[in-house]
Amino acid sequence: MKRYNILILILIFYIYLVYGNVNVDTLHNVNQDIAINNPWTHPNGTLRSIRIGIVGAGIGGSSCAYYLNKIFNSSVLSDHNGQKNHLNPHQSSVYPLDITIFERERIGGRARSIIIDNGNVELGASIVHPLNENINQIVKDLGLEKVYGIASTKEEPYNIWNGNEMVFTESQFSFIDKIKLLVNYYWDPIRFKNSRDDIVQKFLSSYHRKEPFHTVEEFFQNINLSMTTNQTAKQFFVDDVGISENFIQDILSAAIRVNYNQNYDQISAFAALIALVGSEDGLYSIKGGNYQMAKSMIENSKSTTIHAEVRKIEKMDTPKDAHHPLYKVHTQNPAHPLLLDEHEFDFVVIAAPIELSYLEFSSNINTDFPKRDYKNVFVYLISAENLQPQFFNLPPNSKPPLHVLTSHNTSLPFFSVSKNPRGYLDDGRALYKIFAPLYLGKDLLDSLFNNYTVHFQHVWSAYPILTPTDKFPPINIDSGIFYVNSFEHAVSTMETETLSAKNIAKLIAKAIKRPYVDI
Ligand SMILES: Cc1cc2nc3c(=O)[nH]c(=O)nc-3n(C[C@H](O)[C@H](O)[C@H](O)COP(=O)(O)OP(=O)(O)OC[C@H]3O[C@@H](n4cnc5c(N)ncnc54)[C@H](O)[C@@H]3O)c2cc1C
Repeated sequence: MKRYNILILILIFYIYLVYGNVNVDTLHNVNQDIAINNPWTHPNGTLRSIRIGIVGAGIGGSSCAYYLNKIFNSSVLSDHNGQKNHLNPHQSSVYPLDITIFERERIGGRARSIIIDNGNVELGASIVHPLNENINQIVKDLGLEKVYGIASTKEEPYNIWNGNEMVFTESQFSFIDKIKLLVNYYWDPIRFKNSRDDIVQKFLSSYHRKEPFHTVEEFFQNINLSMTTNQTAKQFFVDDVGISENFIQDILSAAIRVNYNQNYDQISAFAALIALVGSEDGLYSIKGGNYQMAKSMIENSKSTTIHAEVRKIEKMDTPKDAHHPLYKVHTQNPAHPLLLDEHEFDFVVIAAPIELSYLEFSSNINTDFPKRDYKNVFVYLISAENLQPQFFNLPPNSKPPLHVLTSHNTSLPFFSVSKNPRGYLDDGRALYKIFAPLYLGKDLLDSLFNNYTVHFQHVWSAYPILTPTDKFPPINIDSGIFYVNSFEHAVSTMETETLSAKNIAKLIAKAIKRPYVDI
């Protein structure tokens, strides 16, 4: 009788192993991989940490550290069917991770805010779209607070100026806006909305793909959107979708110009579309500054941050029995240029535009891939009593506009001038932000503003000049070097940088044969 009970217990335990939470096959594979394939062992056979160096602590670099930590320190695996399996403590700690982030300037990179009158003002990346699934999740997981109300409101409508007149002024009621657009542009607004929604749906489908992509080209092929990266917005919207040039020049250009400071006949259709999705409701930023995301992700990832500029990445000889070479990263302290250092890594992630990073590579690393020029954008933060209506050919006694975007006119001195979400300063004047292609002289500012003070001006190498292409830089530059900003050749947003960083975290997991992880 006793023997019979023991047999039943063994049977129950077996059924639990096979059909229960723990996937025997997956765990078996984990053990095999560790035993056979893990090259990260000390000569005495004990496992050593996998060392990953990240160049840049912007949203790309910080999110890469965050996702790597999430993958490697997770005790939950998902198999290819999405089934979750729990690792035992031994298995979850067999991949100790050692992440070092090098940052030459400041955490956040182009997500940078400054303080004016004790209030936070975004100088770079300002807006998160509610459809940004990765950032939504990061914000939730890290307990960051969202700030809404950063777009124009019905009380403070936006206007579109073509250099002569306001071609569009938002009304109190959105249905009136729709009617105005239909009267002026017939079916164009509907055609545009349909094609945009179709593309947004295709893009959103990329979030459900668990397998990492190996090239940017593959990403767009997978979601059937290559035709948006290899033609201009003009070719796509006018020639393919059948939208009139008037509609795209007058109305759509305003969003393209304010977001990317580029024109519809040069920018790729994909980048233009991302700019046009960015003009919807529900936009938000992060309390305390968008750079808080980078700061929190780095803290959460338990990485070490070193304030240094990476000057050179050197591929070393592949050690005996290793699967791929090691890399030596040469750094220089920005404050003390004579302070040089070297660090050895298994993997290096470049999370900064190579075009702007002054990085040198050893000659055994192939860097013969496409590069882009970056667009110079002048940002001004100016407090003023108001914008002068006469500047926009409005009657002097009319209500001064608060938000002015611009339609397609390459001779205009700025892309947009808009009351900033920071609102009114202590002295009662409103804070305005201007995006301009060039330096704005005193004469122009005198005619644009009433009683103004320039608080801050900055020139960004803001984003790549996003002309159409079907050839992107590689994501995997060398067997152990990955490049987050290859994706920036398609579009530049915080969300797409996290998308690229997450993909690279998965590629590194694959490279060391860490079982597939759902993050
Ligand atoms: C004015 C402006 C407005 C924008 N508005 C928005 C917006 O509203 N919404 C949005 O989603 N996106 C916006 N963007 C785009 C967004 O800022 C970028 O796509 C994103 O922040 C890029 O992140 P990243 O980490 O890839 O690069 P970066 O933020 O540029 O980070 C790279 C980091 O690497 C460091 N670095 C570079 N070289 C080295 C080196 N050799 N050694 C060490 N460190 C190095 C740099 O100092 C930097 O901190 C805007 C950009 C600008 C300029």
